[in-house]
Amino acid sequence: MTEPPFLFLPRECFQALLATLAGQGFHCKGPQLHDGSIVYAELAEASQLPRGVRDRQAPGEYRIETGADARCFAWANGAQGLKPYLFAPQEVLWQAERHADHTQFHETLPQARPIAFIGARACDLAALALQDAHFLQQDYVDPYYARRRENLFIVAVDCSHPAATCFCASTGDGPAASAGYDIALAELEEGYVARAGSARGQGVLEQLALDPASAAQQDSATRQHQQAVSAQTRRLPSRNLHDVLFAQLEHPRWEEVAERCLSCGNCTSVCPTCFCHHELEQPQLDGTRSDHVREWDSCFTQGHSYIHGIVVRSETKFRYRQWLTHKLGSWHEQYGRSGCVGCGRCLTWCPVGIDLTEEVAAICGDANE
Ligand code: SF4
Ligand code: SF4
Repeated sequence: MTEPPFLFLPRECFQALLATLAGQGFHCKGPQLHDGSIVYAELAEASQLPRGVRDRQAPGEYRIETGADARCFAWANGAQGLKPYLFAPQEVLWQAERHADHTQFHETLPQARPIAFIGARACDLAALALQDAHFLQQDYVDPYYARRRENLFIVAVDCSHPAATCFCASTGDGPAASAGYDIALAELEEGYVARAGSARGQGVLEQLALDPASAAQQDSATRQHQQAVSAQTRRLPSRNLHDVLFAQLEHPRWEEVAERCLSCGNCTSVCPTCFCHHELEQPQLDGTRSDHVREWDSCFTQGHSYIHGIVVRSETKFRYRQWLTHKLGSWHEQYGRSGCVGCGRCLTWCPVGIDLTEEVAAICGDANE
């Protein structure tokens, strides 16, 4: 694809974008304010977007503030990203049905509807690339994930108002979307500077017959991006921390963080790259059928390290250590990069405000620089 032109989508034409996507058979999902948080839900009307909403985040804290301005994407993120739309929190993998003389097994692949996901953040796109590497690019392709993934159209929106918990600039994953989208938007006061990232995206923009973005609009988008980068105060080294972390397995900080950590698993649930799960049987009471179910799990649960009568990671310090050394260390061996995209969700949604960047700095010490 040749370098796509920068176009301008006036704010009042956002509805036309939704209508064009709907006309192509997509069900639009987009950010909305529900119960004091930004969540992604069915988006039929541009008026459902969180207009004038800001989020204030800190370790263990998430607050929404509403104002009168017209911007609809001037917030960082909520607990939910793209992950639940592709890797379902709970789903039936197959069913066994008992008959008088045999048992029959049924495949239960999802009926994935084409979805246009509106408002994906750069960190979520980086996480999606990692989930693709895990579910699609290894020896075995996950057909459940694949079915949903092939039906996904992504409209990314560059992050203009990072939260205090964000550090995607330091991991190299944001705050502007650089790959993995069909259309990317940079929101300005009067509308959006739009660029296509795929032939599909280009087709949608052509249907909208937009004017080119002016030089002033493109400059505003660039300035906004630079401000979003410099607004981020937390950081994580982008280099491979594998050797540094594995040299610190007996560091006293593991014990200290375990005194605060509740082993609740919130951090892994909200993390857009975590993919651990367990499987269980859900039999009907009359014994005629059993559903084999996959559901999200966490390396912070006791059961996750249960092997042949032994819980391998019986103490919280071992579980926190497992999480951090895997996410920032051994992911490099598995997927060629760290498993952290700097979204900051694990800081915000940790009930006791444990800050991964602080823990890494404490454990890696000077080697962190
Ligand atoms: S480890 Fe934390 S900051 Fe990094 S991607 Fe996961 S939730 Fe986001
Ligand atoms: S680090 Fe925080 S969110 Fe994660 S398990 Fe511990 S208390 Fe829960």
